[in-house]
Amino acid sequence: MVRPGAVRVSAGRPRSRTASARRRPAQKAQPAAVAGRGWRAGRELPHRDPRARPSARLPKEEPCRRTVFTEEHEQFRQMVRAYLEKECVPHTAEWFAAGVVSREAWRKAGELGLLAWEVPEEYGGLGIKDFRYSVVIAEEIAATGTQGITLGLHNDVVAPYLIDLTTPGQRRRWLPGFVSGELLVAIAMSEPGAGSDLRRITTTARRDGDDYILNGTKTFISNGILADLVIVVARTEPEAGHRGMSLLVVEEGFAGFERGRKLDKIGHRAQDTAELFFNDVRVPAGNLLGEPGKGFYHLMRNLPQERLGIAVVAIAQAERAFGVTKEYARDRHAFGRPIGAFQVNRFALAEMKTKLDVARVYIDRCVQAAVDGELTAEEAAEAKCAQVVELPLVAVSKGVPKLDKILVVSLIPATVSRRVPACVAPC
Ligand SMILES: Cc1cc2nc3c(=O)[nH]c(=O)nc-3n(C[C@H](O)[C@H](O)[C@H](O)COP(=O)(O)OP(=O)(O)OC[C@H]3O[C@@H](n4cnc5c(N)ncnc54)[C@H](O)[C@@H]3O)c2cc1C
Repeated sequence: MVRPGAVRVSAGRPRSRTASARRRPAQKAQPAAVAGRGWRAGRELPHRDPRARPSARLPKEEPCRRTVFTEEHEQFRQMVRAYLEKECVPHTAEWFAAGVVSREAWRKAGELGLLAWEVPEEYGGLGIKDFRYSVVIAEEIAATGTQGITLGLHNDVVAPYLIDLTTPGQRRRWLPGFVSGELLVAIAMSEPGAGSDLRRITTTARRDGDDYILNGTKTFISNGILADLVIVVARTEPEAGHRGMSLLVVEEGFAGFERGRKLDKIGHRAQDTAELFFNDVRVPAGNLLGEPGKGFYHLMRNLPQERLGIAVVAIAQAERAFGVTKEYARDRHAFGRPIGAFQVNRFALAEMKTKLDVARVYIDRCVQAAVDGELTAEEAAEAKCAQVVELPLVAVSKGVPKLDKILVVSLIPATVSRRVPACVAPC
């Protein structure tokens, strides 16, 4: 297995620290890579005027200076990009249509060490705790236009539960497959009547001898169709309010566990999101995660990093939207000039770029704080609230070619849905 921090890849030379910023979709630096992307592959932008005057060019854009990554992260970035371009991007249209990604893509991610590197070495992981590797993945998913594969959910949301709350026996059973990509996971909190306010969940788990009897319905569950393990939030002490919730791991094949319809969403279309039903499911008490009755507190403990993860994804998608917009502004001509050469549009582009760079600096500061173990809940909430979540919407409405359905729906709802979760939603 390849270490995230010590990767050597054949695809291209190691890049400098600022190289990531130079490789945004709008840049000419990597035309071959841009042309190969799913959302741009083989497409010519409409209305290009071949008689346009070459002198009407947009000014050269300087990348935002970043100091958060080391050379190892940039090498890891190369490998992630090579993986996404080979194993995911070519399947975009297929996954988009099916509403679910292939297990093969997960297995390949596992082979390359892109899954759960925080897991201790004795269970197949690398024992590396460094949120910057997750940031690299989120940025490359956005930059390549990859759809559907929920690496962030696996690595950043679920991994802390399976690493920190498990017994040695549970670790032996679940962690090796979790690292290799053979065991896919989901976390089921939301219900038809409970989303932001988790205290309203009605799913119950009644103790019966060595088992819990689980009953209830969950909805909007990412990976709900593919998951082999589902961490379910249930009431084990109904009278105790949020102090009476527990986390139970339901495994594929448990009698009474059924998957409902794959939800037909506007956005995240290649990612499966499903309803799950639990009818008298007998869950062994050995599948309890953490302490009984402490489920709510377990859900809260990783919240700052989960919130920051949303900000990281949002700004990465915003930068992609900006790149696409800028490319369009350069290629679309009117009155003999690229539309981006008109002053009013240059103002708009400059404003977007400024907001992006300012937000980027703040989010990078939070990333460093997370790496140093100092990220506060307030800082993470501010990062999530940052205006950057608005930017792709602005960019899309002003410039993105409207006919590219996959591109447009991937940008708009990615940001809209990230505004919705209010209190404890990690997705
Ligand atoms: C693509 C996708 C994937 C998801 N994956 C998962 C998953 O894997 N697991 C899972 O458990 N859930 C998942 N969810 C559900 C997600 O966590 C919920 O949508 C989220 O918690 C919000 O809940 P809700 O939709 O019920 O909105 P509601 O709770 O009904 O909120 C509706 C609106 O009211 C606002 N609101 C709520 N409370 C307050 C308040 N106190 N003050 C002010 N405004 C408030 C909200 O911000 C929102 O705008 C997913 C959702 C989506 C869209």
